[in-house]
Amino acid sequence: MTKIRANNPELKSWLNVDKNSDFPIQNIPFGVFKGKNGNTRCATRIGDNVIDLYALAKLDYFKETGIEIEVFNNNVLNDFMALGKPIWRKTRDRISEIFEENNPELRENNKHKAEIIFKFSEVEMVMPVHVGDYTDFYSSEGHATNVGTMFRDPANALFPNWKHLPVGYHGRSSSIVVSGTNIHRPKGQTRPNDADEPVFGPSRLFDFELEMAFVTGKETKLGESITTANAEDYIFGMVIFNDLSARDIQKWEYVPLGPFLSKNFGSVISPWIVTLDALQPFRVKGETQNPEVLPYLKFEGDKNIDINLEVYLQPEGGQEYRLCQSNYKYMYWNMNQQLAHQTVNGCNINVGDMYASGTISGPTPDSYGSMLELSWGGKKPITLPDGTERKFVNDNDTLIMKAYAEKDGVRVGFGESRTKVLPAI
Ligand code: MN
Repeated sequence: MTKIRANNPELKSWLNVDKNSDFPIQNIPFGVFKGKNGNTRCATRIGDNVIDLYALAKLDYFKETGIEIEVFNNNVLNDFMALGKPIWRKTRDRISEIFEENNPELRENNKHKAEIIFKFSEVEMVMPVHVGDYTDFYSSEGHATNVGTMFRDPANALFPNWKHLPVGYHGRSSSIVVSGTNIHRPKGQTRPNDADEPVFGPSRLFDFELEMAFVTGKETKLGESITTANAEDYIFGMVIFNDLSARDIQKWEYVPLGPFLSKNFGSVISPWIVTLDALQPFRVKGETQNPEVLPYLKFEGDKNIDINLEVYLQPEGGQEYRLCQSNYKYMYWNMNQQLAHQTVNGCNINVGDMYASGTISGPTPDSYGSMLELSWGGKKPITLPDGTERKFVNDNDTLIMKAYAEKDGVRVGFGESRTKVLPAI
């Protein structure tokens, strides 16, 4: 395994990093912020400091990397990502070096610091990528089993194809938005259980889906395929992905072609893309795949990642209540397999594509990644600290998803995906 300089757990920064921060010097995620002057710039973050990469580049701090300065003067990361994995790694290593405790080059230059470093609370984070295409997989066995048990037959919860291929569908990219964007309850067609005819109105069963997504930073040509062995050259990094869902609309519309309007009214991502490099120390073995998969889906090495996942619900004026705790390691199908499957037929991919995991549910009821499962289809309401009950999500509830990996005293996190559910318009 390649040794990545920036991942060294011994490193410390001269910037202040709180003990429980998701953004120590070992993280160095990539995002895009809008400053006070309205300019959007590519950035990274250490502690609660947002670092303007364009300013760093203009002041010659990236001289030796040979990177074209203007790629950072951008409102998305796509141009930077298109430079390829060796450049992603070199940039991250160089940033790590600049902010390392013992390096005085920027630390002692107050004029430069004022141009480069901003407080997180004083900037606005925007969508970090232009998402061209978006796929949503269905790769957690716990989730697929729960849903199959509730809607079909507990004895045959998984469809016959489920353990042979990573099931997925092509979703819509235009409604993927950044954390802090609030979403109106969708309206649509539903057919209540006791009715013969459909009705139109606001969704009554508003839900979240706890997911992670990866972003590709390299394209393929039509006709080409990616193997499980080279998939990681294509994967730039990951974000938290809240795939908002209207269960009543979904139930009526999804046969025979799958989800449509029940899923495309808003999906909310965390603003910082944590690179696959930064997540390398947290790799773990996945569960044994049985039956054996076809040759193009076989892989070598540890491809799952131990990432703690949490969902909180905050009622209007109330406190954040943790609804569940799950983990990305529960994925049955890993990213390498998902990307190999996505392209095995010659489907081409692009820089900035997003691939969501599907709802990630663990083995125990407190690890289920949706209200549908947590309240078991509405049969087991959840009581919040303020005494109110939820089967699904109410208007003016705020949903917060958090994710972080932790090992050897280093915590590499994603920040949060936050959205408030507004009443239907
Ligand atoms: Mn989903």
